[in-house]
Amino acid sequence: MDSCASNGLMPLEAAQQLLQEAVTALNSTENILLEQALDRVLACDLQAGFNVPGYDNSAMDGYALRAGDLAQQQNLSLIGKAMAGRPFAGKVSQGQCVRIMTGAAIPDGADCVIMQERCSAEGEQIRFHERAEVHNNIRFAGEDITAGSCILQQGKRLSPVDIGLIASVGVAEVKVYRRLKVALFSTGDELQLPGTALAKGCIYDSNRYVVAAMLARLGADVLNLGVIPDDPARLEQVFIEAAASCDAIVSSGGVSVGEADYTKDILNKIGQVNFWKIAIKPGKPFAFGSIGKALFFGLPGNPVAATVTFHQLVTPTLRALAGEQNLTSLSLPARTQIALRKQPGRTDFQRGIVSRDGNGGLIVNDTGEQGSGILSSVSKANCYIKIPRESGNIAAGETVETIPFDKWLA
Ligand code: AMP
Ligand code: MG
Repeated sequence: MDSCASNGLMPLEAAQQLLQEAVTALNSTENILLEQALDRVLACDLQAGFNVPGYDNSAMDGYALRAGDLAQQQNLSLIGKAMAGRPFAGKVSQGQCVRIMTGAAIPDGADCVIMQERCSAEGEQIRFHERAEVHNNIRFAGEDITAGSCILQQGKRLSPVDIGLIASVGVAEVKVYRRLKVALFSTGDELQLPGTALAKGCIYDSNRYVVAAMLARLGADVLNLGVIPDDPARLEQVFIEAAASCDAIVSSGGVSVGEADYTKDILNKIGQVNFWKIAIKPGKPFAFGSIGKALFFGLPGNPVAATVTFHQLVTPTLRALAGEQNLTSLSLPARTQIALRKQPGRTDFQRGIVSRDGNGGLIVNDTGEQGSGILSSVSKANCYIKIPRESGNIAAGETVETIPFDKWLA
């Protein structure tokens, strides 16, 4: 694999592939009630035990009858009623019909339903204003789901509709992967907690809030270890503690080559560093490795870089660890309204706002200043503008790739 671009940085695609290869789904599952299954990841294929619908039933309120009868006569005798949940017990014979409601089982003998708006009742005689074809307005057994078919595949993150689908085949419990446990902390002597008075030369920790919220969206249980100062002994202790109880560790800051950047050295000492310099912008310094069984992700300190690397590198890896399969993020071509500055050498993730123009075509604007510390540029955006590694400047009017935030195809 081309693991080193000419500038000594690892191309994004190589990093993504290495991450996917380094990760296997958790081997621990649990059975949970359907009511608790939203956003959990299915740990086995799910087969339907029977047909849905389970029996032929009416798609309309009206009358069930034999279509052929209306070729000879317009009036049929009403012999009973079929309601949803209360089937008609008898049989429909020549010249007869049964009042039927939506969802009620088609009575024996009947082969179609005529909606009530197309007929008139005169006592026990029903007059039909139109003819019918066999099978009209019947929903057939198994037309939604056939008995024995796989309705959902292992690795599917369950949506509200998936949960309804499982309910529709009568299943009340599902086997899912257990939730990920992820330890999270920020590193930096300058970091303070929001809600405290800011000392000179300090800033508020924002990365941990971004990442904690993103982990919550992924359904992970977060062990939030707060802010750890730039003290190698203290950091090492926290790394070891986190690794002992979690599937993954996410830190931010301290992964570069500054004097107070200890993350990589500690990882080297107590675990393993797999790579740490990636050809993306923002986000070049990124550490990936492991400590014992726990995966380690060291995000850059700059808030935009931390966000971009979490989205592009950590999220797909954690999703795979959580058991999800066949993941790709949605990407849409859009015409850029403004010229985009870009130097060849790294894959850029500029922040954009994708929308439609007057003709319905997708267009994208940037969100102003693109520095890696400008978190407001991400807050204003609804997508990344992904510009390929070797691309240079892009002129207004060119088509670019946009990646809407948090839209996964799976
Ligand atoms: P570092 O990677 O530790 O050298 O940090 C790079 C830049 O990101 C510095 O300006 C830090 O002050 C800033 N930074 C580091 N961690 C955080 C954080 N948790 N929240 C906001 N900014 C941070
Ligand atoms: Mg730092």
